[in-house]
Amino acid sequence: EMSSGVALYLDDVQVTFDGFRALRGLSLSIDVGELRCIIGPNGAGKTTMMDVITGKTRPDTGQVFFGRSLDLTKMNEPQIAAAGIGRKFQKPTVFEHLTVFENLELAVKADKSVRASLFRRISGEAIDRIGELLETVELADKAQERAGLLSHGQKQWLEIGMLLAQRPLLLLLDEPVAGMTDHETKRTAELLQTLAGQHSIMVVEHDMEFVAAIARKVTVLHEGAVLAEGPLSEVQSDERVIEVYLGR
Ligand code: ADP
Repeated sequence: EMSSGVALYLDDVQVTFDGFRALRGLSLSIDVGELRCIIGPNGAGKTTMMDVITGKTRPDTGQVFFGRSLDLTKMNEPQIAAAGIGRKFQKPTVFEHLTVFENLELAVKADKSVRASLFRRISGEAIDRIGELLETVELADKAQERAGLLSHGQKQWLEIGMLLAQRPLLLLLDEPVAGMTDHETKRTAELLQTLAGQHSIMVVEHDMEFVAAIARKVTVLHEGAVLAEGPLSEVQSDERVIEVYLGR
């Protein structure tokens, strides 16, 4: 269990694809309970960074520490997920033909801390957990609706609920509000603020209004390394950042 200090620490990470250096000495750290936004132009290395953290891509050099001592670069994807890192891709991947409840049921049953089997009847413990998750993502009134009938935003929240079922310590979210209405975006900002503290959260996002609403600290990636870091208002007035966004 992590309680305080650093949740995630990338130390001088390098990734090369066919001679192209996608990450060139990327170092950054995120505190326990922090909600950090990662921004940067296309090609900056944001996706590659997420791939390194989750074990999808192995760096050439550098280390990635989770908590005090776990070096993620020595672990494979399932081990990293089991250590408490949950990733959500941009597109929601819920089971459209199942209900909201059933989607969460599958996710809860996949969590080894809940004693349940896919072939057994659902336990009271699992039902309680699903109830909690429905409340957290504010889909209690949609529990019996087919996931395919949900709005885009509701599907994203359901997927966040499914991720939370695994009890992750660190959540990695790729453009969670892309395609959402203003109202859905606002509710997502509230949801992430509720989850922060209990979880460390890293959000890759292009929507600057959303970033301004949720993150105290923003990291700007450019050409595979950190260009600037600090409050959004500060990095937005940084001349190097302005040049990277406007000078292309
Ligand atoms: P971002 O998510 O910030 O847009 P990416 O991490 O996707 O950036 O990409 C960083 C750079 O690495 C880009 O120039 C991209 O073309 C390159 N890249 C990413 N993945 C691969 C790959 N599998 N093979 C070759 N080049 C890649």
